[in-house]
Amino acid sequence: MARGLLIVVSGPAGSGKGSVLGRVFEKSSDFVYSVSATTRDPRPGEVDGVQYHFKTKEEFERLISEDAVVEHTFYCGNYYGTLRPVIEKDLQEGRNVVLEIEVDGAMQIKKKFPEAVLILVVPPDFATLEARLRGRGTNTEEDILNRLARSKEELAIFDKYDYLIVNEDNMLDSAADKFIGIIESEKLSTIHNPDFYNKFYNE
Ligand code: 5GP
Repeated sequence: MARGLLIVVSGPAGSGKGSVLGRVFEKSSDFVYSVSATTRDPRPGEVDGVQYHFKTKEEFERLISEDAVVEHTFYCGNYYGTLRPVIEKDLQEGRNVVLEIEVDGAMQIKKKFPEAVLILVVPPDFATLEARLRGRGTNTEEDILNRLARSKEELAIFDKYDYLIVNEDNMLDSAADKFIGIIESEKLSTIHNPDFYNKFYNE
């Protein structure tokens, strides 16, 4: 069976990457979401094993030492990482696995899995990004300025990603269709069909 695609999705806070992915999952059953591990506390409503696998710092460090974490980062005082057993089984069974992770982790995946498809979700322009962050109404001014500064750093390496999806206001469907279209094309690429020749000649 053909191995599934490993898909990395990043985007600054306010890019709407979570909403785009939500719409992708509604439209297509071709994807599974990789539930990451983190040491941050669950937010109200978050359930262990659904949004994240919540771990203590000691547990997380033990997983790293056992090589059970394929990429990880330390972000805003907490560990976040992708668990190898979570993604390996699905990939082997031919399912496309989506990692929603920040840029540091994305670059680690690119190194370890050169065949991974890296997608960056971005707002149409800076003014929209700022308006979205302010519109949430739940963040302090300091928090907003921090996130805007971090987005500048994140977007500086946009060209390390394979694809950009511009997520315009009120255009979620269009962004989700672009995502699905990218993956359909990738599935036809020669790099993702390495056994074509052998199969063709039954070798
Ligand atoms: P939050 O605390 O808001 O859920 O996530 C904070 C950031 O961590 C987001 O940018 C999110 O994409 C990123 N993140 C979540 N899981 C992982 C992971 O497994 N690895 C990495 N590198 N980043 C992650």
